[in-house]
Amino acid sequence: MMQLSPPCNNKTMKIAKTITELKTCLEEIGKDKTIGFVPTMGYLHDGHLSLINEAQSHNDVTVVSIFVNPTQFAPGEDLDAYPRDFDQDSLLAEAAGTDLLFFPDPGDIYPAGASTFVEVEGESTRKLCGQSRPTHFKGVTTVVNILFNLIQPTRAYFGQKDAQQVVVIKKMIRDLHLPVQLVVCPIVREADGLALSSRNVFLNPEQRNQALVLSQSLTAAKALYRAGEGRVKILKDQIISHISNMPLAVIDYVDILDFKTLADIENITSPALVAVAVRFGSTRLIDNIILD
Ligand code: AMP
Repeated sequence: MMQLSPPCNNKTMKIAKTITELKTCLEEIGKDKTIGFVPTMGYLHDGHLSLINEAQSHNDVTVVSIFVNPTQFAPGEDLDAYPRDFDQDSLLAEAAGTDLLFFPDPGDIYPAGASTFVEVEGESTRKLCGQSRPTHFKGVTTVVNILFNLIQPTRAYFGQKDAQQVVVIKKMIRDLHLPVQLVVCPIVREADGLALSSRNVFLNPEQRNQALVLSQSLTAAKALYRAGEGRVKILKDQIISHISNMPLAVIDYVDILDFKTLADIENITSPALVAVAVRFGSTRLIDNIILD
């Protein structure tokens, strides 16, 4: 693994807190190295670390960003409450093999008066999370573009946990001819099936227990599909009734869509994305599975 010298800092992993520091670090890295980039909002867990590990093993240099992006939160969402622990994150990121950690301020990413956005239009952003969070993906694609511009990665690593985000970013990369290769990594789960998420920390023990219904309902749907049921309505109804058994669960959506385009389907004849979003109190969890 390459060593960078100051002004970044003295540790093996460099930390850049401003765009100027980031540029200095990237100049030291040089243009001839492959860069694997892992964008995150921090409060790192094993899901994030799996992305860092993957980036680390396929690139000369691994860059991780921690940025709780204000533009992807609507007013009233959990921007302020979103969990943050930079000291712990930097230890975890370094132990996972990160070479450069970028931890900018919102004012650096969005200079005063910034009013330029990147928006993917159409089905991919309207469905699923786009229904209850209509401005969310515009914020995601804008910040991912800004980060790609600043870091110019060879490969960017995203989790299948945010399946719709993957579809939207793939489309953006394709539509804008962005010179980056997107790598999708599998969902990392707790031993009991709950998909790891920074927001899991908000669940009380009873909510945490009932939240298992997300992965369990998806697994049950997969079993039904494997048994020969390909009708979307039947599969969806089974998931909804499974989740509805949990008194604390409030369904945001349950949907089964074409995996590549997120178009509606009636029967599964090609890979399909089964996606759920469920609220427990003020915590909204998402999970998904691919039926292939
Ligand atoms: P976040 O910090 O939640 O914005 O996530 C940063 C990246 O980590 C995204 O690409 C997520 O899809 C990915 N990620 C989050 N949770 C998991 C998980 N449980 N398994 C795999 N990747 C994940």
